[in-house]
Amino acid sequence: MLKKLFLSSLVILFILLSIALYRTAIHTVSVKGTIAGEVIAIDELRAIQNLSASIRFKTISYQDKEKFPFEEFNNFIKWAAATYPEFHQAMEIVQLEHSLLFKWQGSDSTLAPILFEGHHDVVPIIPGTENLWQENPFAGAISNNRIWGRGALDDKSGVVGLMEAATYLIKKNFKPKRTVYFSFGHDEEVGGSGAALITAKLKEEGVQLHWSLGEGSFVNKGFFPGVDKFVAPINVAEKGSANLMIVAKAKGGHSSTPPQRTAVTILAEALVKLEKEPLPGSLEGLSAAMFNEVSKHMPFGYRFLFANRWLFGGVLDSQLSSTPIINAMIRTTTAPTMLNGSVKSNVLPIEATALINFRLHPRDTTESVTDHVRRVVGSNDVEVRFLGGREASEISSWDSPGFKIISSSLEKVYGQVVSVPGLMIAASDTRHYSQVADNSFRFNPFSIVPEDMTGIHGTNESIDIDSFIAGIKTYVEIIREGSSN
Ligand SMILES: [Zn+2]
Repeated sequence: MLKKLFLSSLVILFILLSIALYRTAIHTVSVKGTIAGEVIAIDELRAIQNLSASIRFKTISYQDKEKFPFEEFNNFIKWAAATYPEFHQAMEIVQLEHSLLFKWQGSDSTLAPILFEGHHDVVPIIPGTENLWQENPFAGAISNNRIWGRGALDDKSGVVGLMEAATYLIKKNFKPKRTVYFSFGHDEEVGGSGAALITAKLKEEGVQLHWSLGEGSFVNKGFFPGVDKFVAPINVAEKGSANLMIVAKAKGGHSSTPPQRTAVTILAEALVKLEKEPLPGSLEGLSAAMFNEVSKHMPFGYRFLFANRWLFGGVLDSQLSSTPIINAMIRTTTAPTMLNGSVKSNVLPIEATALINFRLHPRDTTESVTDHVRRVVGSNDVEVRFLGGREASEISSWDSPGFKIISSSLEKVYGQVVSVPGLMIAASDTRHYSQVADNSFRFNPFSIVPEDMTGIHGTNESIDIDSFIAGIKTYVEIIREGSSN
């Protein structure tokens, strides 16, 4: 009997293993030739110097509108007009506050337009970190094959790169068939009121875009374990955000005679419960599409796991959740940020509060997140207050013309690139423009390595010169293809 049982388990194991191995073998890509693009001879030196010059304008945006250095913004706008005369002459220009909308009329007005967007404001330098910079953050230094300074990646390379690319096409006498808009916001980092104004203007004119492309993720190498090719996560959605206040209540009094449970310990317990029970997340929909594609380029071990999610789904989910950046892609994240208790060392608080910031995965809503938190921690002693938030964006199609044009343009410039749909973890101006677009993509065609990430909003922001040039060439391809089809 036992022997029979042992034998049949062995047979089942053998069958499972064969299926898993077969699935791994077909979980791969056939080697295909890359699409050859024509040689794009942009004036590289000029483009590099222009990005460097653009960084010298201290176009810093602040939450407090009074603090905006508007003189710097005006000077930047004048500089752009003087530096890119062909671009400015070819377009109809509308300035709304310090944001700019350019319209390049297409020959076929029956076709829906496309839009490319960026922003010329930058975040400030964190006080106290100035001397950690290798180069002055507003000098636009060019050294070690890099261009340095605030905005080098976020997002003056985008704005300058788009003007360079369009200028190249204008000089080649290229005429778009589909109308092309370029939009450069002046306060993306503090909410994007400029992008909202431009979106309202487009709505007013009855413009419905075929698709739009704004800042987002980058072409990268070295972010995914074992993948030695360029990966381009083209973001097709953007996470939402919600702030919730957890209020723990208890009797106040003198700290010399504390009760067993104080407002602070009740609050602490609530926070621990939330940490232990995060919002559910797993590989499905968008995240599944992304990892399914990337994993085909991974070494055997990873391919074996990803090809057999039916068998290893649970292991994979918990493995992926342990890396903060991947965890953020597959679920709504929970981040307690601000705490408050008593005002005095010898006074027991009657209320202790924690503000928790959630970043919403498209599968969740502000309402479902609030319900989750109430279910996990709500009680007579703990109140959950919803302070405000924004829903995640709609998910754009990665089987649509815009996505395909972006990925084929990348191949023309970079050679083999694994283009996959991605999820934008941070917020961007696209949440405004997407209101008037059939599909919206959030992606910069510049390539970065993991170390470059700390520069964005941090210290030593800089862009590799070859990556900047490759990005401009990709923009040329995207604008040309996008406006011709
Ligand atoms: Zn940005």
